[in-house]
Amino acid sequence: MRLANHGGRAVILTSDSSGFDLEAASGGRFGPDLPSVYDAWDDFVAWASKASGPAVAIDRQALGPVSPRPFQSFGVGLNYDEHVTESGFARPELLPPVFPKFQSSIAGPFETVTLVPGGRTDWEAELVIVIGRHAHRIEPGTGWDHVAGVTVGQDLSERTTQLQGPAPQFGLGKSFPGYSPQGPWLVTPDELPDRDDLRITCELDGEIVQNGRTGQMIFSVADIVEKLAEIVTLHPGDVVYSGTPAGVGYSRQPERLIQPGEVLTTTIEGIGSITQHFVA
Ligand code: ZN
Repeated sequence: MRLANHGGRAVILTSDSSGFDLEAASGGRFGPDLPSVYDAWDDFVAWASKASGPAVAIDRQALGPVSPRPFQSFGVGLNYDEHVTESGFARPELLPPVFPKFQSSIAGPFETVTLVPGGRTDWEAELVIVIGRHAHRIEPGTGWDHVAGVTVGQDLSERTTQLQGPAPQFGLGKSFPGYSPQGPWLVTPDELPDRDDLRITCELDGEIVQNGRTGQMIFSVADIVEKLAEIVTLHPGDVVYSGTPAGVGYSRQPERLIQPGEVLTTTIEGIGSITQHFVA
């Protein structure tokens, strides 16, 4: 199943350009927005398998973030070996570095992003996990059971804020307005060709700058959910940006950063693409 945030309303997609409104189709039992769907995830999934409704045409510009108001929003760092190497950090062994992608930075899949004035904004293509069931101290091997679905995201990063000071400021450097885009829709794991190994690419003004596979993650989707749930309680609708493959701009010689007027497209196999236009 594919589920979209269309103008603030939950819509089940029947194609890339059409779907049906959840609240209307369920007679008000589910919806109208995405957060209420995550809160009722198990009941919703059972109902949705047989659901249908009057067709709604999808306007791509009306698509919003698949989880617009998560209780918690996480970023995972250093989760692909070649990215660890290019970043110059040590490889995480027991637990990856985890930081907040503060909620006010979350944006839809096709929104224009205002670059931080005088900043050094970089790209990070990432698979985004959306939680569907409460999780705390869960059984090993059950991480995927707590996931509603996945979507495409960018962990846009302003490197000066991120790396200045006595300790890195990952949370703040990656939480400027619009710096956590996600979409274009949620895809449940059963729809994916291989939920643990999807091609992920990032293109800046037509040049492919990242090209990896989620199967290269040091901590898999299931590992991330299980590791986080050892410590915090995960809530339905929580989102996790799961780390980026190699090819970011700040570790290049010379450094390459996003410029006003440039266009960034991030694509994940089996899900789709998001595109950001950047302005000064
Ligand atoms: Zn990242």
